[in-house]
Amino acid sequence: MDLSRRTFIKTTVVGGVGLSAFGFDLAPVYAQTQGLKIDRTTETRSTCPYCSVSCGVIIHTIGDRAKNVTPQVIHVEGDPDHPINRGTLCPKGASLEDDINNDRRLLKPQVRRPGAQDWEDISWDQAFNEIGAWVKKTREETFVEKDQNGYTVNRCEGIGWTGGCTDTNELNYLAVKTMRSLGVCYFETQARV
Ligand code: SF4
Repeated sequence: MDLSRRTFIKTTVVGGVGLSAFGFDLAPVYAQTQGLKIDRTTETRSTCPYCSVSCGVIIHTIGDRAKNVTPQVIHVEGDPDHPINRGTLCPKGASLEDDINNDRRLLKPQVRRPGAQDWEDISWDQAFNEIGAWVKKTREETFVEKDQNGYTVNRCEGIGWTGGCTDTNELNYLAVKTMRSLGVCYFETQARV
């Protein structure tokens, strides 16, 4: 019979042979084989990004955060303490692990230039600079100081802002402050939390 080390330990402990033959207690080893795969994971609380329900999730990651260890997400489940979903997830949320570990997941900014067929990878610095330049240009071209009745309105009608369900209260606070300071009046958020 071809026995793996794990199978050997389980077999001998269950049969009571391991304990008497080797003279030491294998119960802790046996208990280890019965453990859950999330026993040694780091738990990170987050929000499902798929829809405005904004269910709470717990992301389980293995790796002890040492420099030479690459952490890996091995499980995502609903957060039982979250007031919105109480631990439940719909099929989309339940498949988040595959979203995180997907080869096609975008990890850097991309831009598609006017008339171009393909998306181009750019650095974060380039993305920030280009966004800043476009915001400045658009605001200058679309800013309205007075409406048709002569009332001072000071609003920017050429820019809109939309937030997502994973945005925190702090981010939303800053977004509103920033957009208001630019005169932007068209802003929304996808989440209803
Ligand atoms: S788990 Fe489903 S219902 Fe909940 S936020 Fe994600 S997509 Fe929406």
